[in-house]
Amino acid sequence: MERQYDLLIIGAGPAGMSAAIYGSRAGLKTAMLEMGAPGGKLVKTSEISNWPGIIETDGAKLAYDMFQHSTNFGAEFLYGSVVKIEDGEWKTVVCDDGSSYEAKAVIVATGTNERQMNIPGEAENIGRGVSYCAVCDGAFFKHQEVCVIGGGNSALEEAKYLTQFADNVHIIIRRDVFRADEIIQKSIENEEKIHVIRNSIPIEVKDDGMRVTGLVIQNVHTKETQEIAAHGIFPYIGLDPATSFLKGLDVLDEYGYMLVDENCETRVKGLYGAGDVIAKRLRQVVTATSDGAIAAQHAFHEIKGI
Ligand code: NDP
Repeated sequence: MERQYDLLIIGAGPAGMSAAIYGSRAGLKTAMLEMGAPGGKLVKTSEISNWPGIIETDGAKLAYDMFQHSTNFGAEFLYGSVVKIEDGEWKTVVCDDGSSYEAKAVIVATGTNERQMNIPGEAENIGRGVSYCAVCDGAFFKHQEVCVIGGGNSALEEAKYLTQFADNVHIIIRRDVFRADEIIQKSIENEEKIHVIRNSIPIEVKDDGMRVTGLVIQNVHTKETQEIAAHGIFPYIGLDPATSFLKGLDVLDEYGYMLVDENCETRVKGLYGAGDVIAKRLRQVVTATSDGAIAAQHAFHEIKGI
């Protein structure tokens, strides 16, 4: 028989861990189901300076503290990669290894995946110079040249992080302005190692058969191309929601984000969304944890018939 829970949370990032705290503390039999290490994007984030009460911390430290807290009231941590959720009085959550769980309420807090550039040389060089995580891989590029693609908050923050290792960090943006917040733009203004190349898009990752050797970029106006010699390529060009297992439940918008109401509940009763995976404007640690709390508290009220 499937293992049964009151509340099953898929994903153990900030939203999922916050939901686990609220669910288990309220007395619900609660579990988090996660396909990797707990922490979500937090563990890939170098610096957090907008978590109230802590002026500055690093993502891994905050993730560790949150995880300790999330299991403190009895919530379980389970490994599994979900492929399907079946609706019913009890919801059935099915994993890719055939295992399944039943729960009265399910909170999906699976977050987002890094978008790929989809250019020649990218996929085959993942782990050989192409990386989507500066915090994980930045130290491999001591005294080397690296490229960061994108002009959003992630690109600029991680470019700054990379300056402690690389000799030069080339940021490639496709417009002549950044998308990132003003304060983050200001923080890189005086970084001598950072060089911004505007109005350009990446078109090919070059390698020598062993490792990355450069990035070919093209000016969007003149169509001229140039190759930047670099051993590290870090694309930060946005994120896509991790919701493929929800197709068929009619709870997603046109971009694949979950549509939820003010209780973080979808149109399927007892199925909730929380954190970066839901359709909303502000994707931050603080809003993710808030969603998790709201979803778990509402699930508690529904389960107990309050
Ligand atoms: P964003 O969507 O904010 O930025 C993506 C960047 O990549 C943009 O500059 C975009 O250009 C560029 N881009 C998109 N597609 C391509 C492409 N095919 N080729 C080249 N460039 C491309 O993504 P982020 O990951 O930076 O941020 C995601 C969310 O997380 C945002 O809401 C952000 O605010 C939030 N966040 C907040 C942080 C904080 O507050 N400290 C830290 C990190 C993320 P263009 O601008 O021209 O569209």
